[in-house]
Amino acid sequence: MRQLIIIGSGPAGYTAAIYAARANLAPLVIASSVEFGGELMKTTEVENYPGFVDGIMGPDLMMNMQKQAERFGAEIVYDDVTSVELAGEVKKVTLGNGDVHEALAIIYATGSAYRKLGIDDETRLSGYGVSWCATCDGAFFRQKEIAVVGGGDSAMEEATFLTRFADKVYVIHRKDSLRASKAMQDRAFNDPKIEFLFNKEVAHIYGDQLVTGVGLLDTVDGSETTLDLSGLFIAIGADPRTHLVHGQLDLTEFGTIAVDGRSSRTNLTGVFAAGDVIDPTYRQAVTAAGSGTVAALDAEHYLAGLPKELIDKATAQPVSA
Ligand code: NDP
Repeated sequence: MRQLIIIGSGPAGYTAAIYAARANLAPLVIASSVEFGGELMKTTEVENYPGFVDGIMGPDLMMNMQKQAERFGAEIVYDDVTSVELAGEVKKVTLGNGDVHEALAIIYATGSAYRKLGIDDETRLSGYGVSWCATCDGAFFRQKEIAVVGGGDSAMEEATFLTRFADKVYVIHRKDSLRASKAMQDRAFNDPKIEFLFNKEVAHIYGDQLVTGVGLLDTVDGSETTLDLSGLFIAIGADPRTHLVHGQLDLTEFGTIAVDGRSSRTNLTGVFAAGDVIDPTYRQAVTAAGSGTVAALDAEHYLAGLPKELIDKATAQPVSA
């Protein structure tokens, strides 16, 4: 048994791991088998993380955080959590490989998952022209015409990035104004390769083996048009990843895990939550990192209040079991 298991390896999870490891809690970080490092692994340059005057590539930032956590004694497992039992004094975390890990405290920092349009053929053509990750798939679309769906910062960032490869990038947005920040809007508006299609929804995705186009529905007059495309990047936000804790942890009206005030305490003692999974509003790498700090300090405080026999039990056994 461990003192602490951290589920998630984005800025929240790794920052919690750095703090907890420095506090000698020897945390186990469950980092996911595929999506370890969180959303920043899929971004390019991060220009707004303090301390990096010239910016830093998202994957580099995450690798640095991981190494920093390991340097202080965090252990990282690359597997997916398949179930959690969070009630009671000893928490259980089951992994895809069947291993069951126990701990006295859990920090839940699973982030959020990309939203889908929810239309026919979106899943079938995923990886065949439909993508949620410009940095992963952008290079497949050299000299092609492609589109990005969405009106937020993600859509602007993806569209701007994709102009490195594509000849033309349409931004398809369901309203007539964008939600994205002024700076990111301006960058996209000023890019000659980007054309905005406002008041349009993607109603169909066409293509047998590969995407060949989309059917657009005009949200004002209801008319339908077809647009020939080789790729469709979906950047319409994300939803908190809470499916494993439904029925165990209370959620907010936004679907995020409910925490007590500015703390990371959930409705279950010994269970803390941090990062995008508790944050419907800010969702920045820096705020997630700060949230991970809060969770580590809360967990540390909680563990310090537990009976010595329990802590001894958690620290006496080999940490890999
Ligand atoms: P947002 O929730 O901010 O925006 C989602 C966009 O997708 C909105 O324009 C929304 O439309 C649209 N949308 C949602 N659902 C659908 C749907 N079913 N069909 C069509 N369109 C849809 O998400 P983002 O991922 O853009 O940003 C999330 C957070 O991350 C924000 O806080 C953002 O600032 C931050 N971020 C910051 C970056 C940076 O600073 N470098 C980069 C990327 C993200 P509508 O406007 O009509 O609701």
